Amino acid sequence: MQPSLEKLRKFFRLEHENKYANTAIIGGLAMMLDYWEGEARADGVTEEVIQAVVSRLRSYEKLSPEGRAESLKGLWKRIGETYPEAGQKPKTQNQLPRPPRVVEESPQSVDTSVLPSQREENQPPQAPKPRPAPMPRSEAVAGAKTSQTPAALNADLTVLQGVGPRHAETLAQLGMKTLGDMLYYFPRRYEDYSQLKPIKSLFYGDVVTVLGTIQSVHSRPVRGGKMTIIEVVISDTTGSLRLSYFNQPWLANRFKQGDAIAVSGKVDQYLGRLVMNSPDWEPVEVENLHTARIVPIYSLTEKITQKWLRGVMNQVVTHWAPAVVDALPDKIKLGARLVSLSEALMQAHFPVSQDRLKAARERLAFDEIFYLQMGVLRQKRDWKSVEGRRFAIPLDQLEARVASLPFTLTSAQRKSLDEICADLDSGKPMNRLVQGDVGSGKTVVAALAASIVVSNGAQAAIMAPTSILAEQHFRNFTNLLAGENGILKENEIRLLIGSTPDIRKEEIRQGLADGSVKVVIGTHAVIEPDVMFKDLQFIVIDEQHRFGVEQRKELRSKGTNPHLLVMTATPIPRSLALTVFGDLDISVIDEMPVGRQPVSTHILRPQERERAFTLIRGQIRDGRQAFIVYPLIDESEKIEARAAVDDFESLSKEIFPNLKLGLLHGRMKPAEKDEVMMKFRDKEFDILVSTTVVEVGVDVPNSTVMLIEGADRFGLAQLHQLRGRVGRGAEQSYCLLIPTHEDAAENERLQAMSQTNSGFELADLDLKTRGPGEFLGTRQAGFATTLKMASITDVSLIEKARAQAQALFERDPYLQMPEHSLLAEAFERFWGTGKGDVS
Ligand code: ADP
Ligand code: MG
Repeated sequence: MQPSLEKLRKFFRLEHENKYANTAIIGGLAMMLDYWEGEARADGVTEEVIQAVVSRLRSYEKLSPEGRAESLKGLWKRIGETYPEAGQKPKTQNQLPRPPRVVEESPQSVDTSVLPSQREENQPPQAPKPRPAPMPRSEAVAGAKTSQTPAALNADLTVLQGVGPRHAETLAQLGMKTLGDMLYYFPRRYEDYSQLKPIKSLFYGDVVTVLGTIQSVHSRPVRGGKMTIIEVVISDTTGSLRLSYFNQPWLANRFKQGDAIAVSGKVDQYLGRLVMNSPDWEPVEVENLHTARIVPIYSLTEKITQKWLRGVMNQVVTHWAPAVVDALPDKIKLGARLVSLSEALMQAHFPVSQDRLKAARERLAFDEIFYLQMGVLRQKRDWKSVEGRRFAIPLDQLEARVASLPFTLTSAQRKSLDEICADLDSGKPMNRLVQGDVGSGKTVVAALAASIVVSNGAQAAIMAPTSILAEQHFRNFTNLLAGENGILKENEIRLLIGSTPDIRKEEIRQGLADGSVKVVIGTHAVIEPDVMFKDLQFIVIDEQHRFGVEQRKELRSKGTNPHLLVMTATPIPRSLALTVFGDLDISVIDEMPVGRQPVSTHILRPQERERAFTLIRGQIRDGRQAFIVYPLIDESEKIEARAAVDDFESLSKEIFPNLKLGLLHGRMKPAEKDEVMMKFRDKEFDILVSTTVVEVGVDVPNSTVMLIEGADRFGLAQLHQLRGRVGRGAEQSYCLLIPTHEDAAENERLQAMSQTNSGFELADLDLKTRGPGEFLGTRQAGFATTLKMASITDVSLIEKARAQAQALFERDPYLQMPEHSLLAEAFERFWGTGKGDVS
C-alpha cells in the first residue's frame, strides 16, 4: 500500500479509538491535508482518490461523531475501490482468489514425480490413481446444498487419493479448495501430441514435436575440455534421431535410458544426418502416447509438478465431471449449438481432439458471458421496475432554448436529446449513458435536459471530476438556464466545489434543502453527507469513468428514483457496451459540430523540438493559444521525463521570452488551478504549460496546438483526451507528439494517434493491446477478470449469449418455470445474492 494511504489508515484507526472526537491530529484531521495531498501525489495516488480524501476531511470537523464515523468508513471504502489492498472488503463471490506466483513449467522440475511433502504424508510415490467417489452419487445429490451441485463437488480436496493437508493447501493457493474448483481450474495451454510426426518422415528445417524413447546418452568434452556436449539418441518405431545439448552438463543425469520424452524444436542437419540442437523437452508419461494425445499444461506453484497435478486432475475429471448437473436449459444449448457441461469440462482438461476442445471452450466461454448478460439484463429490468417521475416535455420552450444557442445542434445531439426526453417522459427512471468523442458537445445536451426537469419545478445536480470542469459547466449551464429569457434566477443555480467558502457552502446546502436552489453543479462536494435536496430528480455525472460506483450510488440516494444521465468521452467498444455497460441505455453522439477540422497529428523526434516551437510561435502570432503537456510534475521518481516545473523556467525565459506562459500542475490548490485556467481562457496566457490535469473536459476553443512531451508515456485514451483539448474551434489545430527517446517514435500508440482522429478506432486498438482496464475505470473492472474462458472482446459470442439471455427473460423473467430452477440457482451463485449496483 502507498505510504500516504498507510498513514491515512493509521490516523483513521486512531480517530476510531478516540471515538471520532477529531483529535487524532492536533487541530483536527483536516490539518493533515496540507502535506498529505502532496505526499499522495508523489505516491502516485489517483487524483479522484485524493479529491475524495480532501473533500471528506475538509468537512469532517463539522460532522457529528456518528457522521464522522460514516464519513471515514465511506471514504475508506472509496479508497478500497481503487486500491483493493487498502480496503478490507470481504471477497465477493465473483472475485477470483489471486493465484500465488505461478511458475512456468521447466524441464528440471518435471521429472520429480514425487514431492517431499507428499512423502511426508506417507503417500505412495506414484501419481495418484483414481478411486471411487467418497459417497454414492445419488446420496451426494440428496445431501447437496443446491440441486445443481452434488455435495461431492463441495468436498475438500483431501478426499482425493494422494492429496493430504499440505497438498490441499498448495492447491488452495492456486484457487482450488473443492473438487468443483478443480473442475474449473483450466489448463494454461496444451501440448498436442496428436500432431506428432514419426521420425522417419522428418525433414531438414521442420519445426516439430517428436516423441521417442531414449536409447543412449553420451557426454563428451569439446574445445579442449572447456565445454561439454551431451548427445542423446531417441527412437520411435520408425527410426532414430540424435539430439545435442551444448554446455548443459547437468542434463546428463536427467536423461535416462528407456524414458519416453517429447522434444520440440527445429530439425537440423549434421554430417548428412538429421539432428536437433538443444530442443525443448519434457518427459512423457507413457499412457499419454496412447490415450490423451492432447496433454493439458497447468499453471503450477513450485511445490507441485505438472505430472502430479495432471494425475490428480485426471482423477477429479474422470469421476466428477460426468456428475456435474448442467444448468443450461436444452433449448438454449440447442439454440446456441453447445455441448453439455460434462463433455465441456472433460474435454477442456483432457481433450480427445482439437475440434472437441474447441467446442468445450466455446461452451465454457458461453456460460461466463451468458451469466454476465443475465446479470446486466436483470439489473436493467430492476431499474425499470420502479416508478420515476414523469416530466412532460415543454416543446415550445425547449425549441426556443435550442434556437437561442449560438450554434445549431448536430443531428446526433438532437437524437440523444430526443432519447433523453423519451426517458424523462416514460414514468421509469432514466439510466442512460451518453457517449461522445471529446468535443462532440455533450454538455449542451445535458443542460437542455436539465432545463426540462427544472422548468417542472424539480432539482438537478451535475457532478464533474475536477473543479475546473465543474466551473466550466457552471458557466455553460448558467448561460443556458439563467441568461436572458432563462428559466432560473442567478441564485437558483450554484457552484459547489471544495474551495467554495464555507459560508457560501452552508447557504447552498440550505437552499438545496429548502428547494430554493434548483441546480447545483460541483465536484465530489455535492455528495457530501450534509448535502440534502428537497426534490432531486435529475442527475448528470460527467466523465463517469472518473467516479466510483459508490459515488453514483450516493448521489442517486439523495433523491427518490431520480433520472440518471452519465456522460463519457471514452469511446466504449461494442463488446463493452454490451457487457460492462449492458445495463444502461446508450446514446451515442457520433458526429462533430460542423466546421471542425480533424486535428493534424505529427510525431516529432526529440531533436526536432525546435520545429514544434516554431509552429507554436506562428500560431500565437495569429492570435491562437497552445498547450504544452508534460507527463510528470517533477523528477522525484527518477524518471527522465521532462518535468513541467523545471521546464517552465527555461520555456518562459529562453524559448518563448516574449510570450506569456501559465503553469498548471497537480500540486496546486484547486483554486489556484482554476485561476490559471481562467486566465488561459481569457487569453492572459498564450501558452499553458501543464501536467495532465488539463486532460479532462477543459474547453478553450481558441487553442490550436497541443504539444505533448514524453508522449510515449501516456496511454492511448489519455493521448486522445489531450488531443481533444484542441480542434474545438473552426481553425486548423495541431497535435505534436514528442516521445522521450528517438526510438520511441516507433511507438505503436503514437503511430495510431497520427493515423486516426477517431476515438472509437483508438479505443478498439487499446482494448486489444492493453485489455479492458483502461476503459472500465472504476466501474466493475472486476468483470473482465472473472472471465477464464471467454474474451471480453469477443463480440460474436457476446451477442449470441445476449440474444439467448434476452429470449430467456422474455419467456420467464423471474426464472420461475420448473425447467429453469437449476439455472436460477446457478445464476444466483454466479452473482451472489446481493444484486449490486453495476452502473
Ligand atoms: P464534450 O462532448 O467533449 O463535453 P463540450 O460539451 O465541451 O464537448 O463541447 C465542446 C465545444 O463545442 C463547446 O465549446 C461547445 O459550446 C461547442 N458545441 C457544442 N455543440 C455544438 C454544435 N452543435 N455546434 C458548434 N459548436 C458546438
Ligand atoms: Mg465534456
